[in-house]
Amino acid sequence: MTDMDYLDGNAAAGLLSEVFSADITSARGKCAHCGDVAVIARAHLYTDDHGMVLRCRICGDVIAMASERAGRLCLDLRGLDWLELEV
Ligand SMILES: [Zn+2]
Repeated sequence: MTDMDYLDGNAAAGLLSEVFSADITSARGKCAHCGDVAVIARAHLYTDDHGMVLRCRICGDVIAMASERAGRLCLDLRGLDWLELEV
């Protein structure tokens, strides 16, 4: 994993908009590992054919994963202590 391997967290908007009606990239979340609080757009996004992984911009731990298969989206947010969406 190098600094050139990831996309800006804004690139996660497309897939995550399948789950969240609000703009998820402007949501704030707290990394469960280091406690950093930032908008999702500041996370580092890694993608492949199976889905995406969002990593904390500070510690690099996984904060969210999403994969799409057979018309189903699986979302794992256990790397976040909380996620705050504007309503
Ligand atoms: Zn972190």
